[in-house]
Amino acid sequence: MDDRMFRSAMGKFATGVTVIASESNGETHGMTANAFMSVSLDPKLVLISVGSNAKMNKVIQESQKFTVNVLSGTQKEMSMIFAGQIKQEQEVDFGLFEGMPIIEDSLVSLACNVYDTHEAGDHTLYIGEVINLNLKDGEPLAFFEGKYKQVM
Ligand code: FAD
Repeated sequence: MDDRMFRSAMGKFATGVTVIASESNGETHGMTANAFMSVSLDPKLVLISVGSNAKMNKVIQESQKFTVNVLSGTQKEMSMIFAGQIKQEQEVDFGLFEGMPIIEDSLVSLACNVYDTHEAGDHTLYIGEVINLNLKDGEPLAFFEGKYKQVM
């Protein structure tokens, strides 16, 4: 099986869209990610998968903290900004939650401390222990077959 076929197969799994945010040395960095899952209730753990070449790795490794912001259907532009899909640099005002940067108006913002890290092929898996969360009502932004979708 070639890479394209594997990517197409994985794209058949419809997901929500998150922005991972973290801060180190006074600089806030965000990255769009859909490789996110809930792992454990006791303790409360979640998992994200970050490509080895992503700048986000260095930021999380330095801060040992990150937030996961589950985007609403009205936040497609946020996803595009933090995936580098909008080439022109945009100014984003982050909120602050538990001393960590968050994307305001997300459906959920989870504040996490790094609990464990695991290298897996060309990605690094970060398990985060959720220390607090923010919840809002709204419809999610979805991603399927490489395209954004609205969920009604
Ligand atoms: P960069 O490429 O340097 O940054 C990403 C973008 O965010 C840049 O355009 C940058 O200007 C902007 N940005 C960062 N911080 C700020 C700030 N403070 N203010 C304003 N703009 C800022 N990759 C994965 O590794 N794992 C995934 O699960 C994953 N899922 C994805 C899901 C979707 C739907 C999409 C579209 C992409 C996904 N990607 C994923 C790809 C990933 O989002 C991009 O490769 C991203 O560019 C990698 O970010 P980076 O940390 O290397 O930083």
